[in-house]
Amino acid sequence: KKRIFSGIQPSGYFTLGNYLGALKNWVTLQNDYDCIFCVVDLHALTVRQEPKHLRKRTYDSFVQLLACGIDPQKALLFIQSYVSAHTELAWILDCYTYMGELNRMTQFKDKAEKHSDNINAGLFTYPSLMAADILLYQTDLVPVGDDQKQHIELTRDLANRFNNTYSPTFMVPEGYYPKTGARIMSLQEPEKKMSKSDENENGFIMLLEEPSMIMKKIKRAVTDSENEVRYDRENKAGISNLMEIYSSLTEKSFEEIENEFKGIGYGEFKIAVGEAVIKELDPIQKRFKELSSDKAYVEKLIQEGAQKAEALAYKTLRKVKKKIGLYQVK
Ligand code: ATP
Ligand code: MG
Repeated sequence: KKRIFSGIQPSGYFTLGNYLGALKNWVTLQNDYDCIFCVVDLHALTVRQEPKHLRKRTYDSFVQLLACGIDPQKALLFIQSYVSAHTELAWILDCYTYMGELNRMTQFKDKAEKHSDNINAGLFTYPSLMAADILLYQTDLVPVGDDQKQHIELTRDLANRFNNTYSPTFMVPEGYYPKTGARIMSLQEPEKKMSKSDENENGFIMLLEEPSMIMKKIKRAVTDSENEVRYDRENKAGISNLMEIYSSLTEKSFEEIENEFKGIGYGEFKIAVGEAVIKELDPIQKRFKELSSDKAYVEKLIQEGAQKAEALAYKTLRKVKKKIGLYQVK
């Protein structure tokens, strides 16, 4: 079986963008692949977090993944900071990553602009920690949204660089992107991607959001002055984004959607989109409620996941240390 690895930050509550771009795929893939999914709490430290909020969001992130349908019988689910091999390999990879490469990363540029009061070194080296996450597990495929393409490319470059400098050590992973939903845009600024850490809460929909609020946010979504449901990313970014959401939830093509809403205005289209979102999220919300109160069960899973991940990660880390010349007593 091929190995899959992917992670998500507890930097906020999961959004519809996270779900359509990544999580929905994870749930399907766990049946056919050897899957490892991770709550990457160390990545979340690259922007300032309130400790008690981070702690709660990390727990809730773990539970949200279970609620989405990640099955701990099928997939390995764990929290990044429990496995110190991630930061150890990240340091090593930092020493093989060029400043110039990190400088080109658009996520760094975007986040540095947004958090101009806290442009820390971790924000800059985020991609080598992400590379460490992936490479530790000898990953074949990384299911992520479009926004992570550049980081996946860098991970591949680092794997190749290391393998060529020493000898084959890391599997060179490939990105796995969904056909629709790979880049869901903000409902308020449809030229920007939807992000769970956006300060404008009207820009995103959370998986755990109240149905009435979901409908309200979609009704408020920015569109254009026409009243024609037509896919045109350039000139009709808002409507195209809603079509993308609707398409990935209903599996209808853009053409089918255009026909379905021909001569019908945006108002009715938005209601249809809102209803599709609410319907999809309803079972997730129910499961979240059930699971999150069972703390003993969740914490047992957190610990079991960490132990399994640790065993796998240290295998790769030991190999790496040996190859680069770190002294190890046998
Ligand atoms: P943050 O704003 O803190 O970076 P985020 O919403 O970007 O949060 P991440 O934890 O960085 O979420 O990414 C988790 C996964 O969700 C990644 O696979 C990423 O590619 C995917 N993803 C994030 N935003 C979107 C989006 N707007 N559309 C599709 N996929 C997305
Ligand atoms: Mg992100």
